[in-house]
Amino acid sequence: MINLILFGPPGSGKGTQAKQLESKYNLVHVSTGDLFRYEIGNKTPLGLKAKEYMNAGHLVPDEVTIGMLQNKVNANSDAKGFIFDGFPRTIPQCEALDSFLDTKDDQVNCLIALDVDEEEIVTRLLKRGESSGRPDDSNEEVIRNRIKVYKDETEVVYGYYDKKKLSSTVDGMGTIDEIFDRLSVAIDENV
Ligand code: AMP
Repeated sequence: MINLILFGPPGSGKGTQAKQLESKYNLVHVSTGDLFRYEIGNKTPLGLKAKEYMNAGHLVPDEVTIGMLQNKVNANSDAKGFIFDGFPRTIPQCEALDSFLDTKDDQVNCLIALDVDEEEIVTRLLKRGESSGRPDDSNEEVIRNRIKVYKDETEVVYGYYDKKKLSSTVDGMGTIDEIFDRLSVAIDENV
């Protein structure tokens, strides 16, 4: 199995790139943000729990997020591998992912971070908010809070996998195709 973590701040292009990488490498794209939005759309108990955290730009508690992620992976037992997008976002999530994959004799192969300027992120997210209908993209204060949460709570994930020599960074500025080509080179070098 190939298990990739596509990493970077909100608005760095992880979702856009993951969709293209999914078909190129024949992997299953798992976005915890998309999974939460699906649950919210269906008004499930999990969705109702996640909604207030998401709308404020906070992280949903680890136990909720980890359980949901494990269910998604288990539901795709015939997958060649996974692209994790927006997960893990905390060290307990990293530890849970590693031990979960370990029970399947599997592991994370690499983490690739997209590096994007902060002001570019705010511009991209506000623009996305005009059409995505996402409440967390429509308000600059919530966007800035998500970036702060990323710096305070999520950036450490890079170091966690860097200690295992699995982390690398690509330039996330430029066109979608340029970034896709850089990611493909990084993946081919690392898996
Ligand atoms: P995203 O679509 O990745 O930007 O995620 C949107 C929101 O979903 C985040 O701001 C969090 O509130 C929540 N979320 C997504 N993934 C996670 C995660 N791994 N841990 C905690 N909260 C998450």
